[in-house]
Amino acid sequence: MIVTRFAPSPTGRLHLGHAASALFAFNKAREAGGTFLLRIEDIDPLRCKSEYIEGIYEDLHWLGLNWPEPVRFQSRHLDDYKRALAALEAKGLLYPCFCTRKEIVEESARAGRAPHEGEDAVVYPGTCRSLSLDARAELAHIRMPVWRLDMEKAVRITGQLFWRDELAGQDVEAKPERFGDIVLARKEVLTSYHLSVTVDDALQGVTLVTRGEDLRGVTDIHRLLQALLDLPVPRYAHHPLLYDGAGKKFSKRDQSVTLASLRQQGGLARDFATIAFFPNEGMK
Ligand code: GLU
Repeated sequence: MIVTRFAPSPTGRLHLGHAASALFAFNKAREAGGTFLLRIEDIDPLRCKSEYIEGIYEDLHWLGLNWPEPVRFQSRHLDDYKRALAALEAKGLLYPCFCTRKEIVEESARAGRAPHEGEDAVVYPGTCRSLSLDARAELAHIRMPVWRLDMEKAVRITGQLFWRDELAGQDVEAKPERFGDIVLARKEVLTSYHLSVTVDDALQGVTLVTRGEDLRGVTDIHRLLQALLDLPVPRYAHHPLLYDGAGKKFSKRDQSVTLASLRQQGGLARDFATIAFFPNEGMK
């Protein structure tokens, strides 16, 4: 039984790229007589707004999609993520990091590890990995820490890992070590995208994770977390991204292409038939 999901963050109105992604997940489930789930990834209290949640329902219904209730809201399941963190902590895989963004960039530059071209994130140089307990206690008075995964230790535990690329029909070797010691729990909320998405896909019985090519890389991280947390391993289908006429990826910042604005301009859901067919392109 195939279970797919569309998991938007309510930080803006949905755009054409979201429509394509949602239709891809929906069609994959429908083709196989499976289930399509909607999940609201609202762990970021600073950027998520309830009006956008209403917008998501409205837009997806307009596209003709439906899903079983109740919809899972990540913000209502923080205990699940806390449990996962505790399991990682019990394996000695987490440590608190007190560095500011500026300190990380400076330390990386000092160590000659500036981001490579095309990469936007600096790999954490490991500054806080070996702080003494006393130093941690002292710093905890001054700053709230984030919690990082000790990547080297983690990959040593799991050994070689693979995930199934459904569209290419092959197994892909996961190489999460290139991301370094990633943040698994943030300051504002004791979880992160990587942790919540991995835990939720497992708890919700998602068997086929569908999402854009832009998230292909992080699948390696999710595969690692599944191994560390002893979670079932779904298959993956990363669909091609939609680009606007200028060759730019659709993004939330570009208000002109939201589904809501297209609708206001008299767009019809059936115009999206082209997008609805787009997902199958990836299968060829
Ligand atoms: N919430 C993520 C986003 O809006 C997508 C989650 C996922 O498919 O992994 O980009």
